[in-house]
Amino acid sequence: MIELPQRSRFERGEDLVVMKFGGTSVEDSDAIRRLIEIVRSRLHAQPVVVVSALARITDQLQEAGNAAAGGQLGSALETVRALYVRHEQLAAELASNEPQVKLGRELQAEFGNLESLVHDVAMCRQLNPPAQDRLLGFGECLSSKLVNAALREAGVEAAHIDARSCIVTDPRHGQAAPVWKVTNERLQQIVGPLLRMGQVPVMGGFIAATPEGVPTTLGRGGSDFSAAIVGAALQASRVEIWTDVDGIMTTDPKLCPDAKVIRKMSFEEAAELAHFGAKVLHPSTLAPAMRENIPVYVLNSWNPAGPGTEIVAQADTGSMVSAITAKREVAAVEIESPHGVSSELLRAIYAVFDRHSCPVDIMATSIGRVSLLVGSTAALPRIAADLEGVVNVRWENHKSLVCLVGEDIRRQPELASRIFAAVSDMDVRVPCQGASDRSISFLVEESRVEESVQRLHRLFFSRQEPAADWGGNSSAYCQAG
Ligand code: ASP
Ligand code: MG
Repeated sequence: MIELPQRSRFERGEDLVVMKFGGTSVEDSDAIRRLIEIVRSRLHAQPVVVVSALARITDQLQEAGNAAAGGQLGSALETVRALYVRHEQLAAELASNEPQVKLGRELQAEFGNLESLVHDVAMCRQLNPPAQDRLLGFGECLSSKLVNAALREAGVEAAHIDARSCIVTDPRHGQAAPVWKVTNERLQQIVGPLLRMGQVPVMGGFIAATPEGVPTTLGRGGSDFSAAIVGAALQASRVEIWTDVDGIMTTDPKLCPDAKVIRKMSFEEAAELAHFGAKVLHPSTLAPAMRENIPVYVLNSWNPAGPGTEIVAQADTGSMVSAITAKREVAAVEIESPHGVSSELLRAIYAVFDRHSCPVDIMATSIGRVSLLVGSTAALPRIAADLEGVVNVRWENHKSLVCLVGEDIRRQPELASRIFAAVSDMDVRVPCQGASDRSISFLVEESRVEESVQRLHRLFFSRQEPAADWGGNSSAYCQAG
């Protein structure tokens, strides 16, 4: 009788878990040792590991790039030097013997490339978007190599993958979007065989490349999105986002110490929260998970036994309001058109915002006027100049968008009156309602945002509130890396 070769777990379609570790969960050797134990606890479920850069590295790379572009090459190289020392020290702590030598050589080569990029930037006196993507991507190239070596040193059969060879995007530097078909094929072709051999693939989040191989990034905080992209391509049974808080919370615990962890929420609610300023998840993360119906868990790498937050297709928290977020420092833009607002005009306005990479949050139109919210005023002068002669663009700074999210929030008419009664003494503006059933939002002066979030949190989540009102299982919002 011919003995058939045994099929691997991957081929048998068994559990597969994508585990993404944020910056603070890989920040030093203690964090990486915790990561190793967490990965070990999932070895039965075919883990694929996605890591962010070590905490603060992406910001420091950006600083080095800005310094070089501003003519301060010395200070830029000093920053690079400090990054090198930090990674080198970690390598020495986490690997030994031959693998340490090999890792040391790899780090040296990466830092050689980083230094020459910084020299180039200093020479052209500008950090253009493609150069910026190359620069910021070093963080994840380095961290993924470190974590891979640390896992191997600990006896886990890890295999490093260059994310830029499998996540393929359009060329929108700084905010690239995946080209799904090619990305899915590459991930299956590159990660699949490793899983078949029982290995643990390790890759950097955030980084990708165009079909021609030009490095891109998925936007700040984009490693969460990378994990969801990998999960969707491999039909994972779950995606785990390992961070430094216990889960998604009812609001930012820094504002309200009694904020609670939300045990379970729907994809839509979590997407809405991410869109409206909760930093725990990159806003694009949930779309691929939703499409493939893959549950996403937000977990604390300091407290791996904790239940975290489970995000699934349907979740009835039983509460009217699940969470409250605040998006800080937004600008309210008013565009006046003397000739009315036509669809061509809207298209033209959108095209100009898009060309200046200025994402628009909320939009409302009325006769002769378009109102928008944007997260940064940086591009507005250039946008106003481009639209000059067509429309008149004005904006107000120092606003915050407070947003309440809940599965049925808009179907309970009395809720809106309770919300606005709680802030009736503040100068509140309601930019636009109606686009979503799951949120109610309004603008306040930046100086009043904390107070308004605290009042609303007290209103909907204080212990005095009858349990049925907040469901007893609502929870957090989070910052975290
Ligand atoms: N390292 C990148 C950032 O800081 C990506 C990420 O951490 O998700 O934005
Ligand atoms: Mg993050």
